[in-house]
Amino acid sequence: MTPPVFRFAPSPNGLLHLGHAYSALLNYEAAKAMGGRFLLRIEDTDITRARPEFEQAIFDDLHWLGIEWEEPVRRQSDHFGDYKPALEKLEAQGLSYRSYLTRSDIKRIVEAHEAKGSDWPRDPDGAPHFPGRHYEEQATIDDSSYTVRLDIGACLKKVNRDISWREASDSGFTDITEVAAEPQKWSDIILVRRDAPASYNLAVVIDDAVQGVTHVVRGEDIYAATSSHRLLQELLGLAQPLYHHHRLICDEEGRKLSKSQHDTSLASLRASGLTAANIKERFGFKKG
Ligand code: GLU
Repeated sequence: MTPPVFRFAPSPNGLLHLGHAYSALLNYEAAKAMGGRFLLRIEDTDITRARPEFEQAIFDDLHWLGIEWEEPVRRQSDHFGDYKPALEKLEAQGLSYRSYLTRSDIKRIVEAHEAKGSDWPRDPDGAPHFPGRHYEEQATIDDSSYTVRLDIGACLKKVNRDISWREASDSGFTDITEVAAEPQKWSDIILVRRDAPASYNLAVVIDDAVQGVTHVVRGEDIYAATSSHRLLQELLGLAQPLYHHHRLICDEEGRKLSKSQHDTSLASLRASGLTAANIKERFGFKKG
């Protein structure tokens, strides 16, 4: 039997914090316990925010935690061409379209609708649904740049059956339940951004498949997005991994940690004298 494949996939747009340490250690320890492989992937499709010094800091922090990964590390920006065939496949089937609507066009459309007294639907993150391709004529095109979006209506027709994913309640994957995917809750997600040739949602499903990832362990802030990932896997004929979305680590006031709070970064905790053993102990991992 082929061994399970786990991955930790941080974005190099800030310093890692305790929440990342928890996620990386969960993946690493689960891979070890199951005789599996552990991969590190640099998710830098957002080229406007990714920086080489943050990538180096990821390597330093993970080494400090005692985590070892297989080389070479896959860096998404080195593989932008790999996402093209998937985009072409979706486009050829009429499942995606170019959108020229700008952020301010979308805002104007949503506000005009809400001014008439009815709510505009929102996605699980609270952002307004994308208006859809039938609103394209309202674009105030001032240049030739565009985004590529998935046409959710066309995709649901194409798949034409309920889809789901397998979610484990633990990182040991002993207790698995089937969760119904609801990709319509996200409306027409972005596949290609104006400033990047692939979106996170597109790149993550392709990379997990290319790298043979069988077990995805990541934060519960991405739980709802798994619906879109499952839809893309169905449309592109990709294997589906098992998923475990873990709790998020919060600060003393109960707020989710963020990369902008520099005092909670692993680098500053390390500088203040905290050891990797302290961190492992805090999360209940075995020492050593
Ligand atoms: N790159 C994402 C992040 O840093 C993780 C995505 C994933 O694990 O699927 O939040």
